[in-house]
Amino acid sequence: MTRSERPLFTAAQIRARVAELAAVLSRELAGGDLVALIVLKGALHFGSDLVRAMSIPMSVDFVQARSYRGTASTGKIDVLGRPTQDLRGKHVLIIEDILDTGVTAQALMDFVQAAGADRVIFCALFDKPARRTVPVNATHTGFTVDDVFIVGYGMDHDERYRELPDVYTLQ
Ligand code: 5GP
Ligand code: MG
Repeated sequence: MTRSERPLFTAAQIRARVAELAAVLSRELAGGDLVALIVLKGALHFGSDLVRAMSIPMSVDFVQARSYRGTASTGKIDVLGRPTQDLRGKHVLIIEDILDTGVTAQALMDFVQAAGADRVIFCALFDKPARRTVPVNATHTGFTVDDVFIVGYGMDHDERYRELPDVYTLQ
């Protein structure tokens, strides 16, 4: 397996879309006690770029989600890294790289809700609606992609390609 030669999305395209998402989210989330919760590792660049493009005060925290993809227990995820701050009463913006089946997104939203957040907003840079098995209220997504596997801009295949500024398909 190797990445495509040409990017599916260039760093410039991503930058422009991130700016649009940041403007919408800044408007929608103004006035609340906001925590931006970046999901590691895949959203490391997206999260970093998105929070810097937003224009409202917030605190930044991290979670790590591990799924059991391809095993008998598919459909379950572990939330590994916990946010270091109390989420009770907060407005929590979950920042993910890609929304695929929806299992991870739903589990993360359940986790944040159970931690006592007042409001949970989910944002993913990429969305594969054709793959959804769990209905997720995904109002803030950057790009819709077909059923292809993408890498780069934080997203990996076996821990490779995360460092690339552009997004490629794996072939
Ligand atoms: P879901 O639980 O929605 O099926 O999966 C979401 C997670 O699966 C993403 O956060 C990401 O880690 C991984 N994933 C899904 N599709 C892709 C893809 O095309 N490329 C990469 N690198 N990871 C993906
Ligand atoms: Mg991920």
